[in-house]
Amino acid sequence: MSDTQTHDTHIPTTVHTLRETFDAGVTKPLAWRTHQLEQLDKLLTEHEDRIADALAADLGKHPIEAYLTETSFLKNEIRHTVKNLKRWTKPRYVTPNVALLPAITYSVAEPLGVALIIAPWNYPVQLLLAPAIGAIAAGNAVLLKPSEVAPASAHLLAELIPQYLDSRAVAVVEGGVEETTQLLAQRFDHIFYTGNATVGRIVMRAAAEHLTPVTLELGGKSPLYIDDSVDLETAADRIVWGKFTNAGQTCVAPDYILAQRHVADALVVHLENSLQRLYGPVPRLNEAYGKIINERHYDRLHAHITDLTERGVKVISTQDNDRQTCHLDPVIAVDVPHDASIMGEEIFGPILPIRIVDGPKEAINEINTREKPLALYVFSERREVRRAFLRDTSSGALTFGLPIGHVAATELPFGGVGESGMGGYHGRFSFDTFSHLKPVVSKPLSPDTMRMVYPPYAGERLAWMRRILG
Ligand code: NAD
Repeated sequence: MSDTQTHDTHIPTTVHTLRETFDAGVTKPLAWRTHQLEQLDKLLTEHEDRIADALAADLGKHPIEAYLTETSFLKNEIRHTVKNLKRWTKPRYVTPNVALLPAITYSVAEPLGVALIIAPWNYPVQLLLAPAIGAIAAGNAVLLKPSEVAPASAHLLAELIPQYLDSRAVAVVEGGVEETTQLLAQRFDHIFYTGNATVGRIVMRAAAEHLTPVTLELGGKSPLYIDDSVDLETAADRIVWGKFTNAGQTCVAPDYILAQRHVADALVVHLENSLQRLYGPVPRLNEAYGKIINERHYDRLHAHITDLTERGVKVISTQDNDRQTCHLDPVIAVDVPHDASIMGEEIFGPILPIRIVDGPKEAINEINTREKPLALYVFSERREVRRAFLRDTSSGALTFGLPIGHVAATELPFGGVGESGMGGYHGRFSFDTFSHLKPVVSKPLSPDTMRMVYPPYAGERLAWMRRILG
């Protein structure tokens, strides 16, 4: 895309073309939708290596991590969608209310129109294309806006998508704040935004202008509670994997741990061992360990470490850091006070603070004083503890015994609540998100049961109605 193209006319023209395509009915046939999804699968297969290279350039992702968290995730989502699409598009019959009898009642999923998908940088391929799968499956035209903060991935997708997908109906617009602002001034029929809550508010304000529905996939501080009823060694491996994958830059990474002191003391030893097992003695030299996206985020994270050390908090890290390559070593910080800077924002990096609590009740209280998180993790074999977290907290998702894993549960909706977002997606939930579930009622003119409700209201009408309607 040339510089001049990004200004003024390019964006309205692109949106106009997408709308014309949608209005012409191009995107509605099941065959078109399925073919587009198969083409997307082909793109991912034929360019798996280039995608891995781009993710390595942007985030230092290992090819296996790139496969696991981006390409194979998407291929699985496509497979699931193609397999079930025909069923999802079928009318969903319901039993008619007695007041309507005789009648047939059902809902049918119709596409919304032109959808805008705005993605962030941390899983730049997955988070752009996973919602696109739902939008295409539901029969929409789609405008994709990758994150400029992960430029290698954004450029590659902008190059490949027009080669594989029907460019009358699927367009990519690259750019940052300026281009996104221009995009948001256009009328869309759905906006699907993934990123931080500040921009989420900008998106929602812009959407309000056109009464456009939004899905906001945001973040926040996802807590993890652990007690002494679990195998701490296995738990530590899972926590380290969940926290330090993608160098902690995962929206559902455990942000901080809540534990009793004796649990924290034992856990720290296991966490250190896990770090050694997963990333070796020198993570900087280990290809499995990613990098921080850019210097701005490196500086932000480094300032948290400085704050912790200045407060005398025990910081466990080799601190083999390098601003130039944006390498930040894993950090575990023990007994972090509530007013440490790191407890004031989503960490989104490889620093794992542990807060000491006196038990599950205090942990729940602490969680409830904060905004509703995107995910909550509980490691406890105690039934009453699990039940208390389930009953007394609210979060986008609750997982017992495994951070991050719920993202792969295709049959469950993925999304936040409150400050961590609104709306959900994955699998059928993506399809429904990008559809209008249109209710259809069909009532024969004969017998004309409506006569019974028309005025004049005389005689035994009321008693008779009560007998039928209750
Ligand atoms: P980002 O900086 O890439 O921004 C996201 C998108 O918003 C980009 O496409 C960007 O161009 C656009 N944008 C940025 N500023 C804008 C503005 N002023 N006006 C209009 N558009 C603008 O990504 P980020 O926000 O740093 O992403 C990290 C956040 O996203 C974290 O909070 C993380 O938890 C959250 N996140 C959530 C999920 C989820 O699925 N819920 C997934 C990944 C990340």
